Amino acid sequence: MYWPDAASRHNVRHMSQRIVLAPGEVLFTQGDEGQDAYIIVSGAVHIKAVRRGVDALVNVLGPGEMLGELALIDGGPRTATAIAAERTELAQVTNAQIAERMSRADPVLSLLLTQAMRHFRREIQDPVHERPASVVAIERMRLEGELAGAVERRELELWYQPIVDLDACTVAGFEALVRWRHPDRGLVSPADFIPLAEASGLIVPIGEWVIDEGARALCELDDMPGEPRFMSVNVSGRQLDSPGLLETVRRAVRTVGAPNRLHLEMTEGVLIQSPAARDAVRACKELGAGLFLDDFGTGYSSLAYLNQLPFDALKIDHSFARKMEEMGDGHKLILAIVGLAATLGRAVVMEGIETAGQRDAYRAMGGRLCQGYLFARPAPLAAARELLTSSHRLPWG
Ligand code: C2E
Ligand code: MG
Ligand code: MG
Repeated sequence: MYWPDAASRHNVRHMSQRIVLAPGEVLFTQGDEGQDAYIIVSGAVHIKAVRRGVDALVNVLGPGEMLGELALIDGGPRTATAIAAERTELAQVTNAQIAERMSRADPVLSLLLTQAMRHFRREIQDPVHERPASVVAIERMRLEGELAGAVERRELELWYQPIVDLDACTVAGFEALVRWRHPDRGLVSPADFIPLAEASGLIVPIGEWVIDEGARALCELDDMPGEPRFMSVNVSGRQLDSPGLLETVRRAVRTVGAPNRLHLEMTEGVLIQSPAARDAVRACKELGAGLFLDDFGTGYSSLAYLNQLPFDALKIDHSFARKMEEMGDGHKLILAIVGLAATLGRAVVMEGIETAGQRDAYRAMGGRLCQGYLFARPAPLAAARELLTSSHRLPWG
C-alpha cells in the first residue's frame, strides 16, 4: 500500500520512531500479536507466509510501501512474516497514532477503511482464496515488466559458489548463480524470479547473458593460482528449446578456451518433457560443454536418461545432505548413487554440504566433489578471487 501523499508521509516521519534492520533481520513473525505498522523509508522487506503448509515468499516491498497495517485496524495476529532483504530503514506507525486519526476522521471513511481491512484479512486467511487472483496477476505483470529490462539496465549479477575437490583439496570449479539487484526490492533470489522468467520466455535472453558472463568470469580467474577450473551454469528447459542456444554455447566454449571448462547444469524434468531438449543437450556436448544433471534424487531419477545422455556428473540435491549423517535410508540412497555413478563412469557432486560431519560422511562414501555453505556461500567474482588466494584455509578436514 502506498502512503497517500508527501504531506502525510512527512507527518508520520515526525511522529514515528525510526527502526533500522540489518539484512535478514525479522521484523515480525506470522501469528505474532501486532500493534504497529511500518512504512519503508529505504531498503526492502520480504513478506513470507505459510500457506497450505508451504513457506512462500508472497511479496517484496520497497520504499514508500506500508506493512503490518492490518494490525492497526483490528489488533489481530500477523498474517505473514516480515524479513529485511537488505539494510532497511522503517518509520513506525503506532496503533495510537492511527486511533487518534480515526477518531477525527469522517465516520463514513473510517467505517469504509475498517470494513476494507477486515475483508482483506479474511481474503488472506481464507485458504481457498489465498490472495485475490487480480492482485497476484497485477504483481506478476509488474515484476515481469521490470524483469524485461533488467539485462539492459545491468541489474543482473552473477555470483559464484566453489565446487571443491576433497581429495586434491582444491577448488575444481564454480557454479554461477544469478541474482537480480532490483532498484527498490533489493537483491532478489533466483528462486523468486527464475520461474517468472521461464513462464514469460525472458529466461532466453537472461540465460544467454548468464552463459556469456560465466565464461568471461572464468577467464578472469585464470591468472589465479591452481589448476585450470571449470564454470558451471544453470540452463532451463526454455533455453534448451531456443534456437540461439547452440550459438551461445559455441561462443562460450571458445571464450573459455578448452572443452569441458564450461559445464551446463539442467534438471531431468526439462529433458523428460522435450525430445528437442535432449537433442540440444547432445549437441552442446559435441560442442565441448560438460553436462551436469542437477538436483538428482528429487525428480524421476531415471536410469534411462543416465544411460542415454552424455552426462559428466550427477549433482545430488542438497536435501540429501542433511540425511548424510543419519544411518537411515537417505544415507543408503546417497551411497547407492555414488556407487552407481562410479560404475557408469560419471562423477558426483554433492550439493548443500553445511557441516564437517556431512563432509566426512560423504568422503567416507568415496565422494570427492561437493559444494555448500561449509566451504563458501555464493558471492560476487571478487570474493571468488579472494577465495582462490586463500583456498588452503578452506575446511578440508
Ligand atoms: P541449484 O542449481 O540447485 O543451485 C544450488 C542452490 O543451493 C543455490 O541457491 C545455492 O545458493 C544453494 N546452496 C548452496 N550451498 C548450500 C548449502 O550449503 N545449503 C543450502 N541450504 N543451500 C545451498 P540459489 O542461488 O538461490 O539458486 C536456486 C536455484 O535457482 C538454482 O538451484 C537454480 O535451479 C536456479 N538458478 C540460479 N541461477 C540460475 C541461472 O542463471 N539460470 C537458471 N536457469 N536457473 C538458475
Ligand atoms: Mg545448479
Ligand atoms: Mg541443484
